[in-house]
Amino acid sequence: MERIKEVKRIKEIIDQSNYIVFLGGAGVSTESGVKDFRSLNGIYNQEFEERPEKVLSHNYFMNQPKIFYDFYKKYIINIDPEPNKGHIYLTELEKSGKLKAIITQNIDGLHQKANSKNVYELHGSVKHNHCVKCNKYFDLEYIKNHQGTIRCDVCNGLVKPDVVLYGENLDSNILEDSIKHIINSDLLIIAGTSLNVYPAASLIRYARNKLLINLSKTSMDIFCDYVYYSKFGETCEKLSNL
Ligand SMILES: [Zn+2]
Repeated sequence: MERIKEVKRIKEIIDQSNYIVFLGGAGVSTESGVKDFRSLNGIYNQEFEERPEKVLSHNYFMNQPKIFYDFYKKYIINIDPEPNKGHIYLTELEKSGKLKAIITQNIDGLHQKANSKNVYELHGSVKHNHCVKCNKYFDLEYIKNHQGTIRCDVCNGLVKPDVVLYGENLDSNILEDSIKHIINSDLLIIAGTSLNVYPAASLIRYARNKLLINLSKTSMDIFCDYVYYSKFGETCEKLSNL
């Protein structure tokens, strides 16, 4: 494992690579003001009547949709974040042809907002919602503009965010496509994740060459080829200016 000290070393590694895949976690969005569910300062450590993992579960959504939606609106879709320097850098890298896929654990849709095209959202997206009964599509505005339990305007079924809730499985197609890209890659850039959360930790095993950019040390650092300790957005801003 090489501990990188200068951003220009990251640029060298990127310049030498032709099939780059990006795997990002919550830390990629924190610089856009999106709260990290699992970090020490994240919402999971605040006081609630119910544990957030319980409220944001499939069973809770089906049985207590009003409380689910109250929580969801207050803590998950309460802000309208903008892409940061990290998202924008990745869009440029994709346009250059080097970056083939962005795999994210985030549900905020910020990579698409930054105009990235080939994005795999492992945990889904708050931008999209469907009726659980008739499958009619609803956008985020529909959720924000309705109160209480959100119901379908056609069949009165529950409208569910396309977000992987606790107790639900990841989309197997998204997972398979992500693995294919990682197997084909000559560089996997991992950023903003402690790699403790499934499936990130298992995905990196498919990569030949791994560069980790994270604010603090992780238990997976020793499995990476290169490690750089910094905020991802800040790193990308420096990379853009080289
Ligand atoms: Zn419906």
